[in-house]
Amino acid sequence: MNVVHTINEVRSHVRAAHKSGKRVGLVPTMGALHPGHMSLVTAARKSADDNPHGGFVAVSIFINPTQFAPGEDLDTYPKTLDDDLKLCEAAGVDLVFAPGVEKMYPREIAADTTVTVSNLPDTLCGKSRPGHFAGVCTVVAKLFNIVQPDEAFFGAKDFQQAAIIRQMVADLNLPVDIIICPIIREADGLAMSSRNVRLTAEDRKQAPAMHAGLALGAAIINDSHTPAAEVIDAIEKHLRENAPAGKIDYIQIVDPKSLQDVAATDKSVLIAMAVKFGDVRLIDNILIGE
Ligand code: AMP
Repeated sequence: MNVVHTINEVRSHVRAAHKSGKRVGLVPTMGALHPGHMSLVTAARKSADDNPHGGFVAVSIFINPTQFAPGEDLDTYPKTLDDDLKLCEAAGVDLVFAPGVEKMYPREIAADTTVTVSNLPDTLCGKSRPGHFAGVCTVVAKLFNIVQPDEAFFGAKDFQQAAIIRQMVADLNLPVDIIICPIIREADGLAMSSRNVRLTAEDRKQAPAMHAGLALGAAIINDSHTPAAEVIDAIEKHLRENAPAGKIDYIQIVDPKSLQDVAATDKSVLIAMAVKFGDVRLIDNILIGE
């Protein structure tokens, strides 16, 4: 496994891989890798190995400052590079790209050119994190141009992010296949997240109520296609009772394509939520009917 920190090194490794006919897969991450990330790496490795000429798996590890607003957790975001590299090596990753901020944003943090997708960022996480998805799209577009992968892997935990990246790739005709992988959870249902280690012991006990609330909502919808507003009330009640320390940012039931709120639940819907425990903001979702 090669670990590189510059764009030129990435390009020369990927050029060699492409020259020998390999399919190049990219897993973009912010590090502090856990089994959720590693499931994307496994999917990338499998897809690469299924290619008749073999494949090449690249993982990027970069805490992208432009997707954090002032006052968010950029400074306290967990950093575990040595462990991350060991996990990548064990998973058969070919290349880790771990650039410093100055390599990705050589002039200033606020790049003059940004990539913004319209509409999809106006709801869910985008409402409470203005500018977040422009930061995400800009860094992902940069990573796609640096690595030039044939395919890139994202997790369904960040459902809105995946939808926005798909939109960006379609609208800009980027030649990258986007593969979305399922949410990986702890045994008690909590969606794995790099931020989970920052939960207090008490908050960690309460946080699985997020998934339990989503499962409750899904059960109600599957059972009786109850109107969205009533389902949201039931989930909110579940959270108030089982995760009193959590401050609900949003619970929404939306169309999985447009991400617009729906009133009825007789078609495929996504229930998504964000809850803050102290300054740790967690997200989760469940897709119903697809
Ligand atoms: P992050 O390092 O948080 O930016 O995440 C990098 C990628 O891993 C994103 O595509 C996430 O959606 C994905 N990811 C994070 N947590 C999970 C999880 N629990 N299950 C599946 N994918 C995940």
